[in-house]
Amino acid sequence: MELEALFAKMKLDHLAAQLDGLCEQAGKRDLDYKTFLTEALGTEWRGRHLKGTEMRLKQARLPMVKTLEQFDFAFQPSLDRRIVRELAGLSFVERAENVILLGPPGVGKTHLAISLGVKACEAGHRVLYLTFEELLTRLKRAATEQRLTQTLQQLSYPKVLILDEIGYLPLSREEAHLFFRLLGRRYEKAPLILTSNKSFLDWGEIFGDQVLATAILDRLLHHATTLNIKGESYRLKEKRKAGLLGKTSKVEEPVNAVPGE
Ligand code: ADP
Ligand code: MG
Repeated sequence: MELEALFAKMKLDHLAAQLDGLCEQAGKRDLDYKTFLTEALGTEWRGRHLKGTEMRLKQARLPMVKTLEQFDFAFQPSLDRRIVRELAGLSFVERAENVILLGPPGVGKTHLAISLGVKACEAGHRVLYLTFEELLTRLKRAATEQRLTQTLQQLSYPKVLILDEIGYLPLSREEAHLFFRLLGRRYEKAPLILTSNKSFLDWGEIFGDQVLATAILDRLLHHATTLNIKGESYRLKEKRKAGLLGKTSKVEEPVNAVPGE
């Protein structure tokens, strides 16, 4: 069989595309057969891995790509970087342990959630990002259209589900119940990464009902790492640097800041 046909049959697309370059290099470096084969298969493997990661990143619907390498830990001294580094190792994914990021607006909750999502995509996991509002809209529509079970099933496929911005708006009883059902689906199977600008003490208020809030927290926190970020807003720092705010004036962001601002 011709080489081209073999490549096509074995779906070695990346190797086929780069073969000429590889052969030229091998000639120049006078490689032995085994080293050449290793490099050739390595090229195919890297190409596949990159393509898979790109596909998973697209499916994750992240609002933007942020990485841990871009995160300035020195700006956020209250954040324990050892814990973040440990999370980046992704053992929480295997153990189905939730990650909960709490703190005021602008401290990097979404950034950290996304960067853990990126790591999970790179490691081959399916990831999905939704704002909490989008999640509720999806669940409520499904309930109205009598296909809640199916939607809950779909939301249990992604190995990592990022739910951003819990607590910007209080929930109705029905919404809190829908969320509780989702938690039940994923419990001890697949982790959630949650962000909220409210402390756990205020969750009773968010979920409108202390009993339901306690049940939700119980499920969420049973296996979870919570990072409570207490620092200053990075957005304000950037504005300050640009001279838009006084250097010394301590400006508090409003508690009810617009989500995603
Ligand atoms: P939050 O979700 O807590 O409101 P974000 O994660 O959206 O905050 O952060 C606001 C902006 O500031 C984003 O562009 C984010 O990338 C950036 N940012 C926040 N904290 C840091 C940090 N410590 N290092 C680098 N960029 C940061
Ligand atoms: Mg955010």
